Amino acid sequence: MELPFAESFKIKMVETIRRSTRAEREQWLKEANYNLFNLKSDQVFIDLLTDSGTGAMSDKQWAAMMTGDESYAGARSYYNMKAAIKNILGFDHFLPTHQGRAAENVLFSVLVKSGDIVPGNSHFDTTKGHIEFRKAKAVDCTIDEAFDTELDHPFKGNVDLVKLESVLTTYPKEQIPMIIITVTCNSSGGQPVSIANLRAVKQLADKYGIPVCYDSARFAENAYFIKMREEGYQDKSIKEIVKEMYSYADMATMSSKKDAIVNMGGFIAMRDEELWKKASTYNIMFEGYVTYGGMSGRDMNALAQGLDEGTEFEYLETRIKQVEYLGEMLHEYGIPFQKPVGGHAIFVDAKKILSHIPKEEFQAQTLGCELYLEAGIRGVEIGTILADRDPETRENRYPELELLRLAIPRRVYTNNHMEVVAAALKNVFNRRLNIKHGFKIIEEAPIMRHFTVHLDKIK
Ligand SMILES: *Cc1c(COP(=O)(O)O)cnc(C)c1O
Repeated sequence: MELPFAESFKIKMVETIRRSTRAEREQWLKEANYNLFNLKSDQVFIDLLTDSGTGAMSDKQWAAMMTGDESYAGARSYYNMKAAIKNILGFDHFLPTHQGRAAENVLFSVLVKSGDIVPGNSHFDTTKGHIEFRKAKAVDCTIDEAFDTELDHPFKGNVDLVKLESVLTTYPKEQIPMIIITVTCNSSGGQPVSIANLRAVKQLADKYGIPVCYDSARFAENAYFIKMREEGYQDKSIKEIVKEMYSYADMATMSSKKDAIVNMGGFIAMRDEELWKKASTYNIMFEGYVTYGGMSGRDMNALAQGLDEGTEFEYLETRIKQVEYLGEMLHEYGIPFQKPVGGHAIFVDAKKILSHIPKEEFQAQTLGCELYLEAGIRGVEIGTILADRDPETRENRYPELELLRLAIPRRVYTNNHMEVVAAALKNVFNRRLNIKHGFKIIEEAPIMRHFTVHLDKIK
């Protein structure tokens, strides 16, 4: 008999979570103004809000924390992190930051100015926020296939080279500070970018003299998909693939709360020493001195260890197979979601499930609230609320996709939890036509409104 697949770890420490009643959840959701970000974590049974900073560190990472060097300048932990970035990504220079958006803030303070154009595959929300805050524009050049959720395409994060080249020819070089490639592409569903596409983007960028920056939060998951799906990469190690990916980049920003499996941390890495010098000034102003940048020594140590573990095949296989396991159950139940499944999450197609609810009533948000009411499971809306208003017209932007993201934290839940999630979603799916109305906005912030928006039910 063929042996079934099993996780490549065993569990040394556990944390209690608790189920609640439907009546409790109704009360809590109302008090949270129907914004799942406002719930207390104790009001959640299975928390799939994000895979960011929610992973479980390994025994080796905890051990590394104990040997953290908390010196203000020149700490050993800084040099451990520097060595890990050099070994794994190949960059000579880096700056620690407290998380990914801080890395964007520092780097964009040097590179992005008012009126600039920043093309890429679908930009992540904080990335776009930092671009638009500087009165520059993010242009989405993702391939059209990414927007058809039922279409099975191995690399839905790929950049459409024709779209990209048309941006590069339309605007002068001085107006395009960089091309940002997000690996894996978070906003199009955790979808990978192929090595061939990364190479082609770099060739195009070189032709027009524009630097390439990787938004690297899930770079290791991207490398796993290259190994599994791209011709000629089956026999390469994840670390070899990562090296090649980054040979086509000039710089990178990284939220280490994802593939470096730490609870807090990030960095900027680059080849150009001049850029490092310029960015250092902003790092000192916004984050901290250049050898800690908002991180404690112990956290830098855990990050260095996490970069190594996060680029091991066995770890990635365990992780991604769990996401696929959830996907297989949903497929069996006939629930529409973005195919193929992404690296870190399942993106449920709320537009299809709640097609009888108008988009003005926030279909994905409505589905998220229903799933919470059903079983205390928290997902997150990737739809109209997240897409925010157009900065000029202030009209709501309606994205092509209305998705409910179920992000799976790393090394945290078991497959039994995944079974509960699938069953709960099936129950909501079966009673979908009884969900008559969505929500209206009562209160919202001028930028990145999804974190704090207040909603009310439409009666
Ligand atoms: C999470 C993330 C960021 C922002 O990082 P934070 O650590 O949350 O500030 C930027 N880009 C991508 C692709 C991300 O997934």
